[in-house]
Parts: sequence; structure tokens; C-alpha cells
Amino acid sequence: MQLHNQVYQIQGVGVLDIAGQFGLPLYVYDADKIIEKVNLLRSSFSGVNLKIKYAAKALTNISILRLLRQQGVDLDVVSVNEARMGLIAGFESQQIMYTPSGVSFAEIEEAIELGLQLNVDSLALLEYVGRQYGSAVPVSIRINPHIAEGGNIKIQTGHADSKFGISILYRARIKALVEQYQIPVVGLHIHTGSDFKNASAFLRGAEVLFELAADYPDLRFMDFGSGFKVAYRAGDHVTDLADLGSQVSAAFAAFCRQYGRELELWFEPGKLLVSECGSLLVQTNVLKENPTRTFVHVDSGLNHLIRPMMYDAWHDIVNVSNPAGEEKNYTVVGYICETDTFATDRSLPEVRPGDVLAFKNAGAYGYMMASTYNSRPRPAEVLVYEGQPYLIRRRDTFDDLIRNQVDVPVLNAVTV
Ligand SMILES: *Cc1c(COP(=O)(O)O)cnc(C)c1O
Repeated sequence: MQLHNQVYQIQGVGVLDIAGQFGLPLYVYDADKIIEKVNLLRSSFSGVNLKIKYAAKALTNISILRLLRQQGVDLDVVSVNEARMGLIAGFESQQIMYTPSGVSFAEIEEAIELGLQLNVDSLALLEYVGRQYGSAVPVSIRINPHIAEGGNIKIQTGHADSKFGISILYRARIKALVEQYQIPVVGLHIHTGSDFKNASAFLRGAEVLFELAADYPDLRFMDFGSGFKVAYRAGDHVTDLADLGSQVSAAFAAFCRQYGRELELWFEPGKLLVSECGSLLVQTNVLKENPTRTFVHVDSGLNHLIRPMMYDAWHDIVNVSNPAGEEKNYTVVGYICETDTFATDRSLPEVRPGDVLAFKNAGAYGYMMASTYNSRPRPAEVLVYEGQPYLIRRRDTFDDLIRNQVDVPVLNAVTV
């Protein structure tokens, strides 16, 4: 993954040329990498009816959604607005799974009007849907299986104290509501967090759903969510997709035989599909010596890529403009008036003012978590597709920053 001593290219296009053409800072994505991940996931499963539902929140640019649609991938969304973007990208509403977490009932109604597949996340919502729609709206039920797995506690969602899903301990209460209102249950869902290392976490979750399926004879699908671990640095443990695919395929096929019908097997990868495809390109503003270390200040910060600060995430850094420079030790920081450290004591080819650096693996939860904090514009986004770089989102302008601010004339009068 380290690209020291090499010219950094995407599909044969020099990244420095892309930077020159579109300006910095800039998010750049490689369409081939996304397609490669889709194919890798598909080829890992066999003998089951696999449906990939891309978790749109990871990277919601409409061009990325279109690319995934081209590849035969469906969508998983967590807000009605994400679904609307999916519709603009050409998805049919039936291709979109809507997995809200504690949203207003008004938004649930909008989702139902749009025809999305509703995934129910609380007993209160199940009861609401039953009362409002009776047997008219088929639902999927999000179960919290009480499995603690995955990386950082902030990205675990399946443990007993997590806000997500309906506790499996309420199995009887779920069934009672479903019977009371004759709610058609067509799917069962778990999404127990991020960064699972092996198949066993998925299989333990799957077992919980297989058992619960006895309560629901009309299922069409089971959704095992996501949690695939991707490599952020050389040597990182990643989810072994081939092993996961063969184990889950076998378990699922056996379950379907016992259930008496072939169900669809769904996954909702975000990071897996779009993390590796993306880099955030930045420029070095100044080098600042202090007695203990050398700071590299870049023209970006937690306003553009918050993962290092929020999750202690590691992002490999490439010195794009001086790849053959002498290796030195740097602490790479942003220009925001907060402590926004991208990397501490990182060995990089000599960094000079003006050098272009790339933060790798920035496709997922990069741009989407960007803000305009410190009144700085969010970067532009570029997609390299079939050897051509395309601008897929313009950089914010100053006008964008003040667009929604309202001028209140009485505040203009000087009173002292
Ligand atoms: C965020 C999310 C995902 C995607 O998680 P990744 O770790 O990016 O793969 C999938 N399903 C649901 C319900 C989510 O909220």
C-alpha cells in the first residue's frame, strides 16, 4: 500500500495532474476499485441468492450511486434524503432498504409513500406501523442479537447497551405485535457493527436470525448487515471474504432447506465497497519545527476528514509530489483551530511546502462527514472512470457558506 518511490496514478492518470486540473484539497475516487470490490464480494458466495445493498451513507455522491447501480447493486439508506438521492440515481424504490434509527414517524410515512422497504428498529415503531397500516406495509425487523464484536466501541452496534435494533430478548413482544396488527414480516435484519475480523461474528448473528425465523413463515430475505473490515495499513487484518462467503453460504443454504424455501441473502457493505477507492489530496502549507517534532500543516483538517480524530483511524499518507525524497519523521496536522492530527510520528519522504499529500482509504465516511467548520469550504470530488477524471461535486464557494443565513435588518442599527 505504501507508494514511496512511485508515481501515484489512478487508472494510468497521474494524481498530480488531477490535482492540477481540479485544485486542492480534493477527494478523488477510483471507479475500478469499487467495481473490483463488488465482484470480489459476489464471487465469495455460492449456491445462495445474494443481494448487495450498498450502505449509501458511506459515500452518497449520485455518480457513485449510479456506478453501483450499473453494477447491479441495490441500496441501503438511513434517511429519506439518501433514498431520494438513490431515486435520482435511477434506483427503483423497491431496490432500496430503509433502515432508520429512531427517526420521526413523519419521516417513516414519507418512506412508506416512496415505496421503500422499511426496516423496523423499535417496538414503538412496529406498533405505530401496525396501527397506521395494518397488513398493508410489509416490514423487515432489525434485531439486536447482543453480540459485542468489532473495532472501536464507538462503531459497535450489536452489544446489549447499543441503541440499535430490537433486543432479541423481546422475541415474544415482537411476535405479539405482529399478530395483533397482522403485519407482514418479509425480512429479518442484523447489523452488529464495523470491523469484524472473521466469519464467526456473522455466523453467530445468523444463528440468532435462523432461530427467530420460526416465528415468521413468510420471509423473503435475511439481511446480515455489514461489518466487513478493510485494511487501513499494510499488514492489517481484514475480513477473509472467501472464508466468510463459503461459511455463510453453507449455513444459509442449510437454513433455507430447513425453512422450506429459498430466501434472498442480503449484505449492506459501505466501507468494503468504497473505502479503498478514495484518497483525500491536500497541499502542504507550512512546516513547523518545535523542539520535539516537525509539524506538517496541510490545507485541510477535521473539517474534511474526521476519522483520525474521531475513531483514531489510521490513513496511509503518500507524498505524491516527492515520492523519492529522503524518509523523515513528521506529525501531520490540519489548519483548523482544534487539535486535528492526521498522523503522529509518521515516516514520509521529505515533505516540502507546496508538496501534495494523499490520505489513502478516504472514500468511506470521508467527504460524507465533512463540514464547513471554521467557515472553510468542503473539497470538490472527482471520479476516475474508464481512464478519465470527472468532476462529480464542485468545491463549496463562499456563497455556499452564507447561502442560508438570514439578514435581520434590526440587527444592523448601531445602538451604542
Ligand atoms: C452504516 C451501516 C452499514 C455499513 O457499514 P460499513 O461498516 O460501512 O460497511 C450497513 N448497514 C447499516 C444499517 C448501517 O447503518
